[in-house]
Amino acid sequence: MAFGQSIETPATSYDAVIVGSGLGGATMALRLATAGRRVLVVERGDWYRSKPGTDENDYLYDVLGPADDISYVGGRTKFYGAALYRNRESDFRDVQFETGVSPAWPFGYDELEPYYAEAEKLYRVHGSPAGDPSEPRRAAPYPYPPLPHDPAVVKVIAKLEAKGIPAAPIPRGLDQGPGGACVMCAACDVHVCRRDAKMDAETAALRPALATGLVDLMTLTECERVLLTPDGTRAEGVLLTRTGQQHRVLAETVIVAAGTPHTAALLRRSRTDQHREGIGNNSGQLGKRVGAHSTGTIFPMISLARLGARHTKTFGLNLWYDGATDWPHPLGVAQIAGQVPLWRMTGKLKQPIVKEIAEHSLTVIHMTEALPDEGTGWAFDGDRIGAFTPPRHQAKTYAKMRDLTAKAFEKAGYPVIRAPRPVAFWHETGSAVMGVDAKASVVDPQGAVYGVAGLYVADASVLPSAGALNTGLTIIAVAMRTGDAILGKLGQRQAQAAQAGA
Ligand SMILES: Cc1cc2nc3c(=O)[nH]c(=O)nc-3n(C[C@H](O)[C@H](O)[C@H](O)COP(=O)(O)OP(=O)(O)OC[C@H]3O[C@@H](n4cnc5c(N)ncnc54)[C@H](O)[C@@H]3O)c2cc1C
Repeated sequence: MAFGQSIETPATSYDAVIVGSGLGGATMALRLATAGRRVLVVERGDWYRSKPGTDENDYLYDVLGPADDISYVGGRTKFYGAALYRNRESDFRDVQFETGVSPAWPFGYDELEPYYAEAEKLYRVHGSPAGDPSEPRRAAPYPYPPLPHDPAVVKVIAKLEAKGIPAAPIPRGLDQGPGGACVMCAACDVHVCRRDAKMDAETAALRPALATGLVDLMTLTECERVLLTPDGTRAEGVLLTRTGQQHRVLAETVIVAAGTPHTAALLRRSRTDQHREGIGNNSGQLGKRVGAHSTGTIFPMISLARLGARHTKTFGLNLWYDGATDWPHPLGVAQIAGQVPLWRMTGKLKQPIVKEIAEHSLTVIHMTEALPDEGTGWAFDGDRIGAFTPPRHQAKTYAKMRDLTAKAFEKAGYPVIRAPRPVAFWHETGSAVMGVDAKASVVDPQGAVYGVAGLYVADASVLPSAGALNTGLTIIAVAMRTGDAILGKLGQRQAQAAQAGA
C-alpha cells in the first residue's frame, strides 16, 4: 500500500487492530508487522495532501483553526517540530516541585534506554550531548550528527557561550545530511513538509509498515467502540464506521492509540455491563492524571535588519533542568522555535507590532512541568468528554525559568521582549496512565488495560508525567516496548539484559 491509498472494506480478522496512526499507532504498526503480524490501522483522518499551486509548506493555522483537532494519517506529527528528546533520568522518579510531586514511573530510565536508541534510529534523530548537562546516559552516540546552525544562530551561540551559557543542539528527527531530502528551510516547525523530510509518524513509521505488505490502512474511518467478549474479560475486535457503513473487525489484540483525549473517550464509550464507567475505568482513573508542559515565549532581538527566512530551531538552553543555585526545584528547558508567523494569531491591531518583533528576533519557548494528579484531566459527560481540569501549573518555577532564559540572552547583549501571553499547556500526557497499582492507573507497566485481556494503549495517554521536554520520543519508545510485550518479547529482552549485566 502506498501514499494516498486506503482500503474500503477490512478483512474479517487480523492479528492486531490499531486505532490511530500518530506516533504511538504508526510505531506500533511497524513493530508488529516487522514481526510478521497482520495488522489493520484505523485512522479517522485522511492522508495529508499539500495545497496545490504553491511550493510553500502549509502552515497549521492556514489549514485548521486553533481549536480544531489535527486528524490526519500521521496524527499531530504532520505539523510537529520533530524535537525528539529522551526523558531525563530524574523524570522517571518522584520529583518534588513547589506545589506537589511529579510521580515516579513504573520503570526507570535504564529500561527505556534501548528503546530510545531504536527510536532515534527510526526517526533519524540528529543530536549531540554537547552543552547539555541534563543529557542522560546513552549506550551509543546519536545516530546522526547535530543539525548545522544558521549563520545568524551561530553568532548568538558564540555570544551566549562567551558569557558561560552553554547552548545544546535540539535533537531533531529530519532526513538531513548527505542524500537527505531536508533543505533546512524556515517553514518546518508547525508546518507540513512537502518534501517528506520531516520524520513524522507517517514518513518514519507508517510508510515502512505499509511496505511490509502486512498492514492494511483504513482512512476516514472512525473507531466507534472496542468490542469485548460477552463476559467482558477480553477484547475481541472493534466496531468501525466508514462513509456511513459499519464494519465489525475481529482481532487477537486491540491497541488504542487515538491520542489524548480520544483514547480515553473511546474507552469510555465502549463501556459494557461489566465495565459501567468505561473500559479500564473501574477505579475512576480514565481521563485523569493529565500532565503537560507550561510554556511561555520570549523574543530576544538579535538583529537590527530583518532576519529573513531561516531555519532557527537548532539549539536550546538545558542547564537548569534539575534546578539552579538559587532554586531548589527542577526548572526545565528553553528552546529556539522555528520561524512561525505568530502575528497571524493575534488581533488585527497588534499584528504589525508582533510581526515587526518576530522578524528581528528568535522565538524562544520556555517549558516547565505542569503536574498531573488524581484531580487533573477530563471528566465525562455521558459518553462524551466533559470539563477539563488543567495540570498543576508551577507558577514560581515557570517565572524563574522565564527570568533565567531572558537574563541569559540579555547577558549575551540582546534586548528581550517578553510575550504577554498566558501560559499555554502543551504536550499533554496521561488520561490512561500506566502504573503498577490498578487502583491508580488504567494500564499496567506493559501498556495492557487492567481487567481486559488483549487490549493495550500505546500513545501519549499512558505517560505518567510529561517531564519538561517534548514527549514524542518517549511516546515512540514506550510504544515499541508495549509492542514487545504484545509480541511476547519483553520478558526475553529483560532476561538477556539481566544476563549481560550479571
Ligand atoms: C504544532 C505542534 C508541534 C509539535 N511539536 C512537537 C515536537 O517538536 N516534539 C514532540 O515531541 N512533540 C511535538 N508535538 C506533540 C506531538 O505531535 C504529540 O505529542 C504526538 O503526536 C502524540 O502522539 P499520539 O500517538 O499520542 O497521538 P496523535 O498524534 O494525536 O495521533 C492520534 C491519531 O488517532 C486518530 N484518532 C483519534 N480518535 C480516533 C478514532 N476514534 N478512530 C480512528 N482514529 C482516531 C487521530 O485522528 C490521530 O491521527 C507537537 C504538536 C503540535 C500540534
